[in-house]
Amino acid sequence: VSESDSITGTKPRIVVLGTGWGAVPLLKHIDTQKYEVVCVSPRNYFLMTPLLPSVSVGTVETRTVIESIRSLVGPKIKYVEAHCVDVDTKTKVITCNSDGTNTVSRGDDVKTLLEPSKRAGGASSRIIKDSARTRPQFDMKYDILVVAVGSENNTFNIPGVEEHAHFLKELLDARRIRSAISDAFESAMTPSQTAEERKRLLHFVIVGGGPTGVEFAAELADFVREDLQYYFPRLVANDVKITLIEALDHVLSMMDKQISDYTEKHFRRENIDVLMNTFVKSIKQREVVVQFKGSNELTSIPCSVVVWATGIKARPITNRIREIIGLKAQSNRMGILTDRYLRAKGVTDGSIYAIGDCATIEQPKLVDQIQTLFEEADTQRKGALDLQQFKALVERKIHDFPQLEIFSKTIEKTFEEADKEKSGFLTLATLHSALEKADKKIRALPATAQVAAQEGRYIADLLNQVTDLKSSDYQQQNLQSFRYKHMGALAYVGGDSAVLDFSGTKPIFDLFNLQPLSGRSAAYLWKSFYFTEMFTGRTKTLLAFDWVRTRLYGRDISRY
Ligand code: FAD
Ligand code: NAD
Repeated sequence: VSESDSITGTKPRIVVLGTGWGAVPLLKHIDTQKYEVVCVSPRNYFLMTPLLPSVSVGTVETRTVIESIRSLVGPKIKYVEAHCVDVDTKTKVITCNSDGTNTVSRGDDVKTLLEPSKRAGGASSRIIKDSARTRPQFDMKYDILVVAVGSENNTFNIPGVEEHAHFLKELLDARRIRSAISDAFESAMTPSQTAEERKRLLHFVIVGGGPTGVEFAAELADFVREDLQYYFPRLVANDVKITLIEALDHVLSMMDKQISDYTEKHFRRENIDVLMNTFVKSIKQREVVVQFKGSNELTSIPCSVVVWATGIKARPITNRIREIIGLKAQSNRMGILTDRYLRAKGVTDGSIYAIGDCATIEQPKLVDQIQTLFEEADTQRKGALDLQQFKALVERKIHDFPQLEIFSKTIEKTFEEADKEKSGFLTLATLHSALEKADKKIRALPATAQVAAQEGRYIADLLNQVTDLKSSDYQQQNLQSFRYKHMGALAYVGGDSAVLDFSGTKPIFDLFNLQPLSGRSAAYLWKSFYFTEMFTGRTKTLLAFDWVRTRLYGRDISRY
């Protein structure tokens, strides 16, 4: 442990890894009278990820979606810009460095921002050897470690993705995409360009029909219709094409079916081609190679800018922690398993917590939970139950099983599917097989800002209340375990429309039996939601200005 790190005060030290959606609410609400709090993260700002698709086409400017971590949390919390690369759970020491070898996603690379673009023209094509960055590796002691390091893009090791596709996860990714779109149009304007090459240059492909892919496709279509059409009328009329490729048979498959259907229809009107049941097998410099479901053949699609949005996986530091606590590294988003107080499983002294995208709360399987309820209700051991009675029992038990609350809609659907003859009675066997299928889908909480922020806030409240840090028996200290309150899912789908899915929001909105919402009213809700979510007055003002500026003068199409 370095000299500068010796714990001088008497307060226990909490080290928080990350400056994202999970870490910031925690840092804002933790009691600094009670704890010494240190935040370690390679990114010295909070990033408003829901607005990244807007940044990638210039609807909103880069500085609008970030807020310096220091201004957010104030001087009482120490911030150190570094990657945590290792944890020693025995001595309670973390090791950090500035390049986070193998721990950083492409967008985090701050150094490239300092390189002047060779393509900018003029005299400035030299590389400045920066002398302001000397960052020796350091160790730091902790009493409590909160891991909130998020996730990184999952390429599924598909060839060519790392080399040729853009991600949309960090601010620099959005800036790169904005620049690449501009590049494609300027290249297409070169007089000697062939018609075929123009078409390729102006074919934009998005891989992944989850919310990231859908929102980016929507913003791009808005950009083309509202601005590029004015500056490049012929190119837009003849050559521009946007294609969204999705491996499943629906986009936004995690939302209500009505919403997927609405989005697909809406995209057709917005001139976005949606290729469903299509799997991207590889990406080459000027093409995407796909396989259609049911066919063995590979088809090449010529294109220029490819945005890869096929989901997330655990970061190397998350897998490193998994290994330290005796679990295998994973190539999916599983991350660090926690109990319902969000403490990492396998750390016996309870000193490590994990929240947000890098964590999964371990829950008993749904099938086991339901089986227990079933047996409880079937007092006469008939092996069959009245559906209504059973539903009522599940409702009553919901507070004991947070998973039931979130997925009560799924459970209801499962009942209906299992009871094929509409007898109103269920046998344990039919229920069992149906629930096993449902279980696969719903084990983890979704990887969203909503979940991360609630978890961060929860940890702050929990640690503020803990009276005995040495005792891991939180029940004895009367501390509540974490309960997620789902407020619905929102996605912008372009043309001033958004979709809003309330399923699983029980008991808050479901009381009013709210149906999925789409169209303009949902877009206003989307806007007002993100406006109120913007963390400070400064960013709120910038966002309001950006929206007004875009409406009045259009987006800035210059590349820099
Ligand atoms: P993050 O917010 O990603 O923060 C992780 C932090 O850890 C970062 O500060 C990072 O720099 C830091 N870090 C990384 N490695 C290390 C390390 N080794 N040591 C220390 N620190 C490290 N969710 C919604 O609910 N609604 C939306 O509308 C929405 N829109 C989205 C749009 C896009 C384009 C994307 C990409 C995501 C969106 N999400 C949305 C998902 C949401 O952003 C994530 O679920 C959320 O950011 C997770 O929060 P987190 O704190 O776990 O991670
Ligand atoms: P996702 O996992 O939600 O969706 C990825 C999609 O890519 C899936 O539909 C999958 O079938 C498809 N896919 C995977 N491999 C493919 C391939 N080779 N070819 C074609 N399609 C392929 O990922 P995401 O959209 O990046 O979202 C990541 C997380 O962030 C999610 O938890 C999401 O809920 C959250 N998020 C939320 C919002 C919002 O609420 N508005 C916006 C963005 C992201």
